[in-house]
Amino acid sequence: MEGFLISSRGFLLQLQMIIIIMRSAILRGCVMKRWLMVFALIVAGPSGGPLMAAEQVNLYSARKESLIKPLLERFTAETGIEVNLVTGKAAALQKRLEVEGRNTPADLLLTSDAGRLYLAKRAGLFQAVESKVLVQAIPAHLRDGENQWFGLSKRARIIVHSKRRVKPGELSRYEDLTDSRWKGRICIRSSGNIYNQSLLASMVAHFGEPAAERWAAGVVANLARPPRGNDRAQIKAVALGECDVAVVNSYYLGKMQNARDPAERAAAAQVVPLFPNQADRGTHVNISGAGVIRHARNRENAVKLLEFLVSDEAQRWYAASNHEYPVKSGIPVSETVAAWGYPFKEDGLDMGELGRHNVAAVKIFDRVGWR
Ligand code: FE
Repeated sequence: MEGFLISSRGFLLQLQMIIIIMRSAILRGCVMKRWLMVFALIVAGPSGGPLMAAEQVNLYSARKESLIKPLLERFTAETGIEVNLVTGKAAALQKRLEVEGRNTPADLLLTSDAGRLYLAKRAGLFQAVESKVLVQAIPAHLRDGENQWFGLSKRARIIVHSKRRVKPGELSRYEDLTDSRWKGRICIRSSGNIYNQSLLASMVAHFGEPAAERWAAGVVANLARPPRGNDRAQIKAVALGECDVAVVNSYYLGKMQNARDPAERAAAAQVVPLFPNQADRGTHVNISGAGVIRHARNRENAVKLLEFLVSDEAQRWYAASNHEYPVKSGIPVSETVAAWGYPFKEDGLDMGELGRHNVAAVKIFDRVGWR
């Protein structure tokens, strides 16, 4: 299938139609349907059949279509390279790539969290890319040491607290969350989520497993409710008074502050963002990123797309529309994000460390009963 457009909607629809008609024709041996099948094949041929695309790149993305589509359109407008986008959940896309193996149509995998990029690399899905553009744009700690994956945007895992029930200065570090003063007052999502795994992995990297385990056990002891819901749900729980403190990725707060839904904006207005550990190692940050697939057939175009995603234009768009932080220096953040205070002190830990300590973090969560 090399050289075929894999996600042209019209083609897929027609293909689906042909398959449905063929299946029922074969099952029932119906003469009428056999004729329909022939008809469908004739129709599909010229208008939507497999087209030979001049230049293309096939992208598997765990990020929502709305988050990247405008960027991909810009890329096509500038380079003439068509982007065929397949979106899905991170774990499902990785599984799919493993199953497809060398037959995969994918050239590039875009996903969030260094922990996931690490797992994809360990599964042998990526290949190394030597690119001056990427190396110059992306700080060393935000990309793989062997150039198999590259950070494209950055996010902070911040603390949010109730505007009314928590006073400024009552807490300033992740470590403070284990203090008995927060008993029954903390909301945080489940340990099955990679964001929490990476946060705990950063503690394993800095302080070792026993200290990380004491922290996790201390947080569990202070939970207001068993972990449930996503990061937005934690912000809403603080707004509703179910808890007073939560831990969330920064862009969720940015999106809620700018949401069309007044209820989301109202919930966001009830919380204050706090960037932990400003006086010591800095706030835990993580990335979204991408790597070129080992069996990529459009390798050069995949590298071009990667390089486009760290261009000033793409970095600015990412920051402005998704309330993330650019990986490249000198690019402004959104007004919302700037209002929280920027720059802030970031934990400069190598992103690879988050993946390296992922298994240890998951085991700790299990041991301390963090659901
Ligand atoms: Fe997210």
